[in-house]
Amino acid sequence: TPRVFSGVKPSGGLQLGNYLGAIKRFVDMQGQDYEAIFCVVDLHAITVWQDPKELKDATREVTAGYLASGIDPAQSVLFNQSQVPAHAELAWLFNCVARVGWMNRMTQFKDKAGKNAEKVSLGLYAYPALMAADILLYHATHVPVGEDQKQHVELTRDIAAKFNHDYGAEGFFPLPEPIIEGPATRVMNLRDGSKKMSKSGESDMERINMTDDADTIAKKFKKARTDPEPLPDTLEGLKGRPEARNLVDIYAGLSETTPEAVITEFAGAGWGTFKPALADLAVAKLGPISEEMARLMNDKAEIDRVLAQGAERAEAIAQPILDQTYDIMGFLRSR
Ligand code: ATP
Ligand code: MG
Repeated sequence: TPRVFSGVKPSGGLQLGNYLGAIKRFVDMQGQDYEAIFCVVDLHAITVWQDPKELKDATREVTAGYLASGIDPAQSVLFNQSQVPAHAELAWLFNCVARVGWMNRMTQFKDKAGKNAEKVSLGLYAYPALMAADILLYHATHVPVGEDQKQHVELTRDIAAKFNHDYGAEGFFPLPEPIIEGPATRVMNLRDGSKKMSKSGESDMERINMTDDADTIAKKFKKARTDPEPLPDTLEGLKGRPEARNLVDIYAGLSETTPEAVITEFAGAGWGTFKPALADLAVAKLGPISEEMARLMNDKAEIDRVLAQGAERAEAIAQPILDQTYDIMGFLRSR
């Protein structure tokens, strides 16, 4: 059976893009013919500073987000990355397979480093090799992600292909396929339609957090930047209107329909009509999830237990693949 791997960083509270572009998609795939492994990628989080006093709870909160959204730890493997040391080990091996020139082409690094490229961590630069390790450690074949991660999955394929070729191990690592589907694969920042919504974005007003209450959600959509035109009656009419398009896509993602259907329903509507409808929809969909997250966070020991069990299952798959990798590369392993 095909095997799915994906992850979310505990680098802050979950935002609507994480839900629509990633976690909701994982839940949809869970019922299909896949073996699924979902990870809280804490080693990735520290590529930028994380307060040690907050990292544990951030890890638990992402776990609670997975569980509250419908990931079933009996059906899928759910764990945090740092509890399976094989991720860090394979990442080192891949650091020696990946080329500096490949890393230099990663647009996310350029975005995140900005003008400060000399001052960011070496980990932020090497991050895509760790991500390749996360995926290939399980011989995963499918990687559901948001649009922003497409380039990193392509790099994963390049690393797999180069490893297989250089070590004469044709077919050892599969070349995984990114799965980027649905109407909300790139949810945009509510204040700037040219940037994606992110957990780590500067202002809280630019994103909807999974844990925002009803009033906050309504306020954020009300203040979301748009042009003054009403909604058009065809999708074509949204060309060149990124903020309007984003709100339509969010509505489609939350209501599990298409942007076309949303436009048909709201043709000619002004923002005074559409924004409150969108806020009501978001509250109806996110409210029960954030309530369940809060309930789960009351029992941290239970979350920790779920992660420990998941880590054991993950390691049982990962360790033999790591051992084979060491063997293929010629390492002496006498115990
Ligand atoms: P950070 O700002 O710390 O990078 P993030 O919000 O980008 O946080 P990640 O943990 O990097 O979240 O990404 C987790 C998953 O969510 C990935 O599959 C990513 O593609 C997806 N994702 C993140 N932001 C969006 C978005 N705005 N729209 C759709 N998918 C998204
Ligand atoms: Mg990100």
